[in-house]
Amino acid sequence: MSTETLLYDQLKRPLRDLRISVTDRCNFRCRYCMPEETFGPDYEFLPKTSLLQFEEITRLARLFVEMGVEKIRLTGGEPLLRRDLDVLIGMLSQIKGLEDIALTTNASLLKKSALKLKQAGLTRVNVSLDAIHDETFGKMNGRGTKIKPVLEGIQAAADAGLQVKINMVVQKGINDHEIVPMASYFRNSGHIVRFIEYMDVGNSNGWKFDHVMNKKDIIDQIAETFPLKSVDAAYFGEVASRYQYEDGSGEIGVISSVSDSFCSSCTRARLSADGALYTCLFASKGTSLRNPLRNGATDEELRTMLTNLWNGRHDRYSDERTEESVLNRDKIEMSFIGG
Ligand code: SAM
Ligand code: SF4
Ligand code: SF4
Repeated sequence: MSTETLLYDQLKRPLRDLRISVTDRCNFRCRYCMPEETFGPDYEFLPKTSLLQFEEITRLARLFVEMGVEKIRLTGGEPLLRRDLDVLIGMLSQIKGLEDIALTTNASLLKKSALKLKQAGLTRVNVSLDAIHDETFGKMNGRGTKIKPVLEGIQAAADAGLQVKINMVVQKGINDHEIVPMASYFRNSGHIVRFIEYMDVGNSNGWKFDHVMNKKDIIDQIAETFPLKSVDAAYFGEVASRYQYEDGSGEIGVISSVSDSFCSSCTRARLSADGALYTCLFASKGTSLRNPLRNGATDEELRTMLTNLWNGRHDRYSDERTEESVLNRDKIEMSFIGG
């Protein structure tokens, strides 16, 4: 733990976590995130020169850690598409005061890299898996990919000694029939499955309140088959509500950003693949850190920028979500700033 919290925003929330998107590209086309109609063959992804280089990411990460960040999560797009990700992890792991480096991935490419990533300093991996049956999963990922490579990726990560959590986004009428089979499959595996309420991130997924399966319904469904008891949060700012199976066969979580928002404890900043800082997942625009970085800004100047950005933050989109904000707010796409 750092001994001192250096930065607070307008709602007295400290800066603790940094999510870094290392690419805006993905080998999946999950309908809720990168629907094929928008992200088709002609879609223009960021050119290589726009992406932050590893040295640039590491320099910014070091400054963030000096200002209170304890945990970094690498995400995307699909982060495993970024070449030599283990080299970046190795560089980040040298930062004094950084306690945790995690990765969010669809795991389709994890099998061959898990050990290398762990050896470079990765501590944890969150694997996104929205169904346990091939048919539903193939539809969800938009590419017909089967679950086998994902399950092999999960196994390789566990074998390498990485802590693994599984994330399932639940969409009513699309994959809610997979909730109990997913819970059943991962009971006794040691891996916690977290069920995530479908969110209105971005503007391309056609989100409606009706498409959300809320926390209560998710829990009721599971508890009917596998009785559950609720347990306390493990730490301040934990986003998942935790439940344990009464028979001792493991734990699940629910991330209820729609029905029961948690903005008051949100300590996360997000850095997009082209180096812009976003202080909320639902932000309309970010602030480029890449430009000052490439224009020769000193550490002191960058520190001042970060301080001003975090001190001025007052985002609490999920607390304030309305039909109107869902429709009319121009929000950045999730694949651009990462989950
Ligand atoms: N490609 C990686 C993956 O899927 O794990 C990392 C990036 S992805 C944008 C990060 C997380 O965001 C995934 O767990 C994904 O399921 C989640 N996500 C994307 N769109 C979402 C939405 N509309 N509602 C809830 N979660 C979403
Ligand atoms: Fe790709 Fe992840 Fe988005 Fe699915 S959720 S399209 S795997 S970035
Ligand atoms: Fe944090 Fe914004 Fe999500 Fe609220 S809506 S929890 S402020 S990212």
